[in-house]
Amino acid sequence: MRQQLPKEIDPFRFSHNGRELEGEIELTELSRLKPSLFSDSGTVKIKMRFDIDQTGTPYMQGNFVTTLSLTCERCMEELLYPVEVNTLLGLVKHERLVSRLSEQYEPWIIDETEFVNPADVVEDELILALPLVPKHDFDCLPKEVWQSGDEEIEETPEKQASPFAVLSALKSKK
Ligand SMILES: [Zn+2]
Repeated sequence: MRQQLPKEIDPFRFSHNGRELEGEIELTELSRLKPSLFSDSGTVKIKMRFDIDQTGTPYMQGNFVTTLSLTCERCMEELLYPVEVNTLLGLVKHERLVSRLSEQYEPWIIDETEFVNPADVVEDELILALPLVPKHDFDCLPKEVWQSGDEEIEETPEKQASPFAVLSALKSKK
């Protein structure tokens, strides 16, 4: 059974009440993350625990688990990238107050009068967790591409940008 997260919460109230949230978000709902994805199918498993620490700071401890489908920048094929984000966010009502947070917290700035969608904070954390240059951790290009033998592969920017062209050229020779 999939539990949907609520679309609107009041994180300060949740902290005062020591609430916990558990559920899943479809990756298709995360529109800012989408451009980085090869495929947007899949879900993020989410746990959020809201509480107030001994110094009176409201916080959210989050655990977000998913596997993102990215594009390998070497072979342009799909790269499955498992992600587990553990985060500890201190809730503040204004940017001015960020400096008062103790060091263990990352700030989560929330205007108290507004409800927030918990998916937004999940999306922010996943975007931060993206690798700078996604690449398979093995030689994902076939050897023929590197060892072109007698036939030289011209080093034009066009061909570098499109290994598919090289691959289809190799295939059509057979
Ligand atoms: Zn690759």
